[in-house]
Amino acid sequence: MQVELKNTTKKLCVIGDPVLHSKSPLLQNAMLQALGLDYIYLCQPVKAGEAARWLEAAKTAGYAGFNATMPHKEDLLPLMDVLDEDARLYRSVNTVCIKDDKVYGYNTDGQGFLQALLDAGFDPRGRRVVLLGAGGAAKAVALKLAQQRVASVTICNRTLEKAQALCDRAPEVLSPAGFDIDTLRAQAAGADLLVNCTSLGMAGAKGGFEDLSFLEALPAGAPVYDLIYAPAETALLARARALGHPAFNGLSMLLYQAVFALEHFTGVSIDAPAMVRRLAPLLEA
Ligand code: NAP
Repeated sequence: MQVELKNTTKKLCVIGDPVLHSKSPLLQNAMLQALGLDYIYLCQPVKAGEAARWLEAAKTAGYAGFNATMPHKEDLLPLMDVLDEDARLYRSVNTVCIKDDKVYGYNTDGQGFLQALLDAGFDPRGRRVVLLGAGGAAKAVALKLAQQRVASVTICNRTLEKAQALCDRAPEVLSPAGFDIDTLRAQAAGADLLVNCTSLGMAGAKGGFEDLSFLEALPAGAPVYDLIYAPAETALLARARALGHPAFNGLSMLLYQAVFALEHFTGVSIDAPAMVRRLAPLLEA
């Protein structure tokens, strides 16, 4: 991809550690080119604990904004002048806009997940959801679902205290459960949707699910959504599909959160579903 640089070109980037594997520069530059916007999107390694220093450097260097990934999403929260509702809800920032020396923090993860779910033909309102994991991604997914008038979300996590702490944020909808096979089977039996927010099965992560037999308890037709997008088909998705369940990976969530971030950076309204369809082949290749 060729990006034409002018003196007026505005700078954006993604920060993180590690970050060199990030797909954000590929996706954002493709969108900027498609929309004819005079921006460039770079990749900037920033070590843990350095978010505040980076923010001052970004202001000085005239950045229009940046995305943040591990380990900065929580550290950025107190550094923002203005926070959007989702960033406040998740206590985590993945998109920062710098304008007139003020910094605006957003989080597009939950909105990206919800839009991907709706695209997959699943409206979560009134439905029972079983969510595996209680880490950063699970927090955004669970709290976004809790806003959608779902019937219930059960958070199954290896470390029960983390599931409990997340559920305390919306106890009327969220409830904690363990991660042993009997619990997973019992929970799956009452689910309309199962979402994996753990890193089990992710490329480069150690190990995967030891026992996927809990999927056999899932009611017929209940979809399985895995936030993991590399590999495109995890063992969880393959087994779910083999059992006849609609199965979706995390690619469209990744793409939607990127589109919503670009809308914040540029103020340009984007036809998100059309843009996601356009971007998907870049990552499927
Ligand atoms: P995280 O904060 O590190 O949380 C990891 C979760 O996985 C925790 O709940 C952890 O349980 C669980 N886990 C890890 N190893 C386990 C094991 N051996 N057995 C049982 N549970 C285990 O990570 P994250 O940021 O939430 O990301 C989770 C996944 O979502 C990653 O694969 C990431 O790539 C994906 N993701 C995708 C998108 C997207 O746009 N599609 C966005 C964000 C994240 P404990 O609490 O017990 O440690």
